[in-house]
Amino acid sequence: MKSEYDVLIIGGGPGGALAAKTAAKNGLSVGLIEKRPAIGAPVRCAEGIGEDLIGEFFDEIDPKWISAKIEGAKLIAPDGSYFYLSPEMAGNEVGFVLDRKFFDRDLIWQAVHAGAEIFVKARAVDAIVEGGVVCGAKVEYNGRVQEVRAKITIAADGVESKFTRWCGIDTTVPLGELETCAQYLMTDINIEPNITVFYVGRDIAPEGYLWIFPKGERTANVGLGISGTQSGDGHRAKDYLDKYVNEFFPEGKIIEQIAGGVSVCEPLECTVSDGLIIIGDAARISDPMTGGGIYNAMYTGRLAAEVASKCIESGDLSKGALMEYDSMWRDSKMGRALERNYQMKEIFVKLSDKQLNAILTSVKNLKMADFSTLSLVKEIVKLNPKLIRDLTGLK
Ligand code: FAD
Repeated sequence: MKSEYDVLIIGGGPGGALAAKTAAKNGLSVGLIEKRPAIGAPVRCAEGIGEDLIGEFFDEIDPKWISAKIEGAKLIAPDGSYFYLSPEMAGNEVGFVLDRKFFDRDLIWQAVHAGAEIFVKARAVDAIVEGGVVCGAKVEYNGRVQEVRAKITIAADGVESKFTRWCGIDTTVPLGELETCAQYLMTDINIEPNITVFYVGRDIAPEGYLWIFPKGERTANVGLGISGTQSGDGHRAKDYLDKYVNEFFPEGKIIEQIAGGVSVCEPLECTVSDGLIIIGDAARISDPMTGGGIYNAMYTGRLAAEVASKCIESGDLSKGALMEYDSMWRDSKMGRALERNYQMKEIFVKLSDKQLNAILTSVKNLKMADFSTLSLVKEIVKLNPKLIRDLTGLK
C-alpha cells in the first residue's frame, strides 16, 4: 500500500467499487481499503434491484450476477388479503435478485482493471484531519498501522460508518429510524420463483416488513426488518422471522443467516467536507421506504468520483468545491425519490393493521395502465383522503 493516493476510498461495497472504478478510469491514483477478508461476503442484503436501475451502469448484465428475474410482486395485508402487481402493471419486468457474492466481486475487478489498487483485511482505524481538512486515513494492514494520505477521501464504509464520525460529522441514526433486520437464505421451500412477496403488519414486522426474494426454484432470501424501537427481549427481528418461518416454511432448510441494520432516516444534512465525500449507506442515502441502497450507493459512488476528478484537476479540494456532489445527487431523480419516500415512510410507520387492510383493499381495486410508486400513492390518497389527512395532519 502506498502512503499517498489522489483518492482513498474506505469500504469495498458497491458504492466504494463504483467510486474506485470511475476515479481510476479518469486517470487518478486510487487506493481502496476493505476491512473484511473477502469482497462481497458475508452478504448483508436481500439483493433486489430494478432492472432499469442496474442497466444505468453496464452495457451488458453478466448472467452470473443474477439469481432470479422478477416479474411481479405480491403485497400481503395483515388480514391475509393481497395486492398482486402483475407483470403487465409492472411493464413486464420488475427487476432482479442479484447474487452479490459475484456482483460485488466483479465490481471490484472492474475497478482493478481500471487501475485502482485494492486491499482487503485493511481497516481504517482513524481519520487524518489537519486544520479541519480530511487528508486520508490511518490504516491497519498486515499487522501495523500506517498513514495513507489522499487529496480526497471517500467514505464508503456503509451503515456502520465510523470514518465520517472520526472526521467530526454527526452520523447518529435515531433508534426509531434504524431498522434491525434478520434474514435467512432458505432452500427447500415452496415459492413462486419469479415473484417477490412482501408482508406488512404489526404482528409480522412492526414498523417494517417481511420479504421473500427468490433466488431459484425453491430457494429465497427470507427476511424482515423492524424498527429499533420495537425490538426487545423475546421480540427481536430474529424472533419475528423464526415465528414466520416455523409457520410457513417448517420443512425449509436455512443455509445462511445474517443480521444487519438499515437506516430509514433522512440523508446526512451535508455529504461533503474539506477533502471528504460521503457516499451510499455511510451518507444515509438508502431508500427510507424500502431500505434499498445498492443503486443509491453505486450512483453516489460514481458521482463522487466524477466530482473528485474535477476538483483534483482544478486544485480546489474545499468543501465549497465538493458541494457540487451534494447538490447534484439531491437534485437527481434518486434524491427527489428519497425525499418523497421519506414522507411515505413517515405515514407507513403510523398505520394500524386496520388501516393497512383498508389501503390494500382499495389498491386491489385499482386498474392502472401505467403503474408506478407515485401513481400508487396518488391513488391511495384519492381513495383514502381522510386517512392520509389524519395521518399526516395535511389539509
Ligand atoms: P456496504 O455495501 O455496506 O459496504 C461498506 C463496506 O465498508 C463494507 O464492506 C464494510 O466491511 C466496509 N468497511 C466498514 N468500515 C470499514 C473500515 N473502517 N475500514 C475499511 N472498510 C470498512 N439494498 C437493495 O438495494 N436491495 C435489497 O434488497 C436490500 N436488502 C437489504 C437487506 C438487509 C438485511 C440489509 C441489511 C440491507 C439491504 N439493502 C438492500 C441495503 C444494501 O445492502 C446497502 O444499501 C448497500 O450495500 C450499500 O452499499 P455501500 O457501498 O454504501 O455500503
